[in-house]
Amino acid sequence: MKTVIIGAGAMGSLFGGLLSLSGEEVWLVDIWKENVDAIRSKGLVIEEKGKTQTISTNASSDITSIGKADLILYFVKTYHTEKAVSDSLALEKEDTVFLTLQNGLGNEETICKQVDRKKVILGVTGQGATLLGPGHIRHAGWGKTYVGELDGKITDRVNQVTQMFHKAGIETEVSSRIHDLVWEKLFVNVGLNALAAITGLKNGQILDYPETLRLLESLVSEAIEVAKRKGIQIQGNPMDRVKAVIEATRENRCSMGQDLDRKRRTEIDAINGAVVREAERLGIPVPYNRMITDLIKVIENFLNPKHLPARSRFGEGRRNPGEASRGDQLETNSNDRNTKFKTNMFWKLGHSNLEFGFRYSDFEF
Ligand code: NAD
Repeated sequence: MKTVIIGAGAMGSLFGGLLSLSGEEVWLVDIWKENVDAIRSKGLVIEEKGKTQTISTNASSDITSIGKADLILYFVKTYHTEKAVSDSLALEKEDTVFLTLQNGLGNEETICKQVDRKKVILGVTGQGATLLGPGHIRHAGWGKTYVGELDGKITDRVNQVTQMFHKAGIETEVSSRIHDLVWEKLFVNVGLNALAAITGLKNGQILDYPETLRLLESLVSEAIEVAKRKGIQIQGNPMDRVKAVIEATRENRCSMGQDLDRKRRTEIDAINGAVVREAERLGIPVPYNRMITDLIKVIENFLNPKHLPARSRFGEGRRNPGEASRGDQLETNSNDRNTKFKTNMFWKLGHSNLEFGFRYSDFEF
């Protein structure tokens, strides 16, 4: 299957690298030119359990030069999906299959706005990876991947995708209840990500303090209630499963934590923000999810006023030119001519924990 992966960051490079190694024709597409250049010139470097391997694979920042694809796999951050989908229409032929393994809710809807629903399949992955630099990642997690049709039918194409992943060493199963599995993964992200990002804690530490444990349980309970009301079939005890995943990744700093540490935009709108939106539709109060979504948005606003609607901004932001092409870099200084309110923000990474604080200076009203 000729597979084109849109987004050659941590996860796109992981899947692309493993599929290439297994002999599949793979193209990695990224708007981050330095990344594409590194992959093309030096190969893709994957660190795994102390070993490093360099994999030769195709990479391009010009999507129109690739031809048509059998499978398009999206691995951009959720806030880039809409643009990634519109760019990828250049790869479409009659039987192209569109798959997302991104986190959060809303990716399916975003793809189906531009692509015939019959061509779209959905998945979740327990694989994990960290981007270390251009063309360089670390394989950090080995959980199962699930792929399924939107209507739950078991078809040749989902079997084919599953077998292709399996052959590449990515443990994968076909699922007839893929929407349920998307929600089950969401429960982990809802409980952990924003809470760890705000507190600066590592995953496991969230379970160690009675206060964060209580907050985690409240966030997840609200999401479970919304899921049940939507008719999602939840198997077993989802709260126990969330805690087990957090315990198993005790030493990790979650992705949203890493995003804020690096002053990058987060996927809050697809995680806690999505729970709030779904709850609003159903008329269910979700105060914990609403509050944590608002808090993350306030922090993002401090870091980069450009991400929010004009009326919420303190002032115009200035992007770091070196990072502008990734489109997710946040901002450290905001300066508004009218309020002359300058905010300096400093985030200091300690040895084991994140220390952070806000420093306000030069108030002129
Ligand atoms: P990442 O930031 O490392 O990579 C995203 C890449 O997409 C970047 O290199 C960016 O330049 C590129 N990009 C943005 N817009 C693009 C466009 N229009 N066309 C082509 N490339 C574009 O992100 P990641 O950690 O790989 O995460 C990707 C998705 O997978 C997210 O939804 C995340 O939640 C999910 N996910 C991540 C992990 C993990 O361990 N990192 C695990 C499971 C799921």
